[in-house]
Amino acid sequence: MAIFETLAGTGHEQVVFCNDEATGLKAIIAIHDTTLGPALGGCRMWDYGSEEEALEDVLRLSRGMTYKAAVSGLSLGGGKSVIIGDPKKLKNEAFFRTFGRFVDSLSGRYITAEDVNIRVKDMESVALETPYVTGINSRVGGSGDPSPVTAWGVFNGIKASVKHKLGKDSVNGLTVAVQGCGAVGTFLTEFLTQEGAKVFAADLNQDKVKNVVESFGAEAVDLNKIHSLPVDVYAPCALGGILNDNTIPELQTTIVSGGANNQLLDEAKHAAMLKEKGILYAPDYVINAGGLINVYQELQGYDADAARTKAAGIFDTLINIYKESDEQGITTIQASNKIAEDRINSVRNMKDLRNNFEGQLWINQ
Ligand code: NAD
Repeated sequence: MAIFETLAGTGHEQVVFCNDEATGLKAIIAIHDTTLGPALGGCRMWDYGSEEEALEDVLRLSRGMTYKAAVSGLSLGGGKSVIIGDPKKLKNEAFFRTFGRFVDSLSGRYITAEDVNIRVKDMESVALETPYVTGINSRVGGSGDPSPVTAWGVFNGIKASVKHKLGKDSVNGLTVAVQGCGAVGTFLTEFLTQEGAKVFAADLNQDKVKNVVESFGAEAVDLNKIHSLPVDVYAPCALGGILNDNTIPELQTTIVSGGANNQLLDEAKHAAMLKEKGILYAPDYVINAGGLINVYQELQGYDADAARTKAAGIFDTLINIYKESDEQGITTIQASNKIAEDRINSVRNMKDLRNNFEGQLWINQ
């Protein structure tokens, strides 16, 4: 891979390769853009097939974080890290403390958090070596599990979609298909049913479906049919790539708004297919930004109410995106990318008003 050529194409500022033979740590930290603030993004541990695959993943994910923070109005840049290897074999205290030292060496340009295969306990080891870590246990002043705030943001995002597409101020009496009854899907089902929506639910794990049926009166449906139900809202809360050539023709809803990451298998193609079918799509990185908003709040001194209030602002963010999309005749993803890029560019191009005349001789003495 021609690394600098790749970085020039993606706009990355800095990529750090971290190697420690004693613990077996091999990690890559990618800082995409720090125009708006320090680059914040989770650390993912994965047994990648190759180093190129790990690099591609961290570059893609860190760029996504720049857009997510920018469109959500946060003073953060985009970054991400990946640790290469089998979590079952490699994880221990020294391993994560060493990773923490690498993070610390960047002096706050990158702030880490949990992602796939990383637990709060791992981040607590990282926190022994650096203050540049978020998402640590709520008992020690951190924000803890982000999924209730993520789900609260998704709920408010669904309300924005319903307002824009159906002209309604509430989900009361509407039908919603929730695909995936994990952490986000379960909290989302609770919020939806509390406001009077009828929820249909499906998950690979039948115990999780049983939980939402018994706790919130959801109705269990076939895993393979959940996306094609004739409902007001389809809310993907499990897998990525769920909006594709096969599923989009089968959709019988006019709104897709859910918490899952990377819902569009091919961003440009499948966003256009949804638009052609008259389906309103809430860009995933916008509607599921509650988790990032939650850890951002931790940097200011964690306040759960403030995090929820800020996550509720996803309503206004989406209304703005839908308006831009309608006015410009572009997809909602194109509209949100544009809003993010405009914000970054306007801050990047700010006039420098600091005194930089020192030592210059043109001032009359
Ligand atoms: P989770 O692991 O708690 O739940 C995911 C659920 O999806 C599991 O119950 C799993 O059994 C189910 N599932 C997997 N494959 C499925 C399939 N084919 N059909 C139906 N169900 C299936 O994860 P989570 O934290 O609830 O996250 C859900 C989604 O939201 C993920 O895409 C995640 O990346 C995204 N997300 C989560 C957060 C957060 O704060 N947790 C933040 C942003 C984005």
